[in-house]
Amino acid sequence: MAMTEQQAIERDRQDPLGHFKSEFYLKENTVYLNGNSLGLLSRRAEQTLLTSLNDWKEQGIDGWMNGEEPWFYLSEKLGKKSAPLIGAKPEEVIVTGSITVNIHQLVSSFYKPEGKRTKILADAVTFPSDIYALKSMLTLKGFDPAEHLLQAGNPEDHVLDEEELIEAMTEDVALILLPSVLYRSGQVLDMKRLTEEAHSRGIVIGFDLAHSIGALPHELHAWGVDFAMWCNYKYMNNGPGGTGGLFVHEKHFGTSPGLAGWFGSDKDKQFDMEHEFTPAADAGAFQIGTPHVLSSAPLLGSLELFEEAGIDAVRKKSLALTEFFMELADEKLDGLGFTVINPREADKRGGHICLQHTHSASICKALKAGGIVPDFRAPDMIRLAPVALYTGFHDVWRTVDTLARIVKNEEYRAYTNKRNVIA
Ligand SMILES: *Cc1c(COP(=O)(O)O)cnc(C)c1O
Repeated sequence: MAMTEQQAIERDRQDPLGHFKSEFYLKENTVYLNGNSLGLLSRRAEQTLLTSLNDWKEQGIDGWMNGEEPWFYLSEKLGKKSAPLIGAKPEEVIVTGSITVNIHQLVSSFYKPEGKRTKILADAVTFPSDIYALKSMLTLKGFDPAEHLLQAGNPEDHVLDEEELIEAMTEDVALILLPSVLYRSGQVLDMKRLTEEAHSRGIVIGFDLAHSIGALPHELHAWGVDFAMWCNYKYMNNGPGGTGGLFVHEKHFGTSPGLAGWFGSDKDKQFDMEHEFTPAADAGAFQIGTPHVLSSAPLLGSLELFEEAGIDAVRKKSLALTEFFMELADEKLDGLGFTVINPREADKRGGHICLQHTHSASICKALKAGGIVPDFRAPDMIRLAPVALYTGFHDVWRTVDTLARIVKNEEYRAYTNKRNVIA
């Protein structure tokens, strides 16, 4: 039996992370379940952004070295502070670029086709941009993507079979790129196991952490993962277009960046302005141009919240919220045409619930009209992320109760079953 409404309210009162909700700009009476696409603004993130704006206002060019938060070292500082979230050493992480740009950077650095080993292995259900990047990278290196990009799994499936992924690690594969958590079903892949299997076959492997950073802990260094990239605008609450990040395992320090640029320089050498590139000794070498300061600054405040809450506590609460969601769904949504797409097991479940329904698009519009912000994904999926830092158990109760009402009373019929331009 799932908790009653009263019990859910009581559970929120006892929640050790409950006070974080007031750190965020969350509209009165709104349940925001779209933090897996764009996390909310916190007061701390706003504050650190304002600090950098003020440094610009007061100091102009001198903000680079003498600002309250000197911009010249901001990417390194943010990398160091992000490292605990992914189980990395501080110097293995740099905040820079976006997922797609970082895929281009890291694949151009670590994809080294040689002899029979010329292929890249990915999966058939990942986010399209990752695939566009891999295909263009193959083309640039003179290979035909139709032949050299292998995509394991079935595009019609919602989950990937790890055995199938491992079987696809054949001797013609040079590099593997996989998501840590699938963007639709929320399935968590076993990064440790996949890394071991790849390495035992002499293949380099990287992960796209878009849907896992800030949602669950990682041990990238200990697992020996070669490289990783992510964005910070989803669970990290760094704002629209916020700067992403990348990880390069220390065993690869010294590898030349495929796409070099002056901000990848050793910081003491950068302003010598020599035409001979002297890269930084760590992950900083993989930066390209001038950092996007105003799109990175909010992350500083946002990371404070993660430091205070602790990623293990965030994951624990997130699992309790999604567990409660599924229990309620089994009771209240039974017979209403919903299918739970996300894996049910805790160790396979990411931060969001994924429901499928024939009227998903119109149900999402009805939810939004009712003060609950969902995330629609074509063709027929509703993603609902009860983000631990700003969502409570009663919010989950209200969401499932509203979903049941929308379908029972056919309230969704007031809306067209078509997606808007963005989701
Ligand atoms: C969100 C997301 C992206 C978006 O890439 P950007 O370059 O940051 O726009 C790419 N891949 C995955 C798996 C994502 O979830």
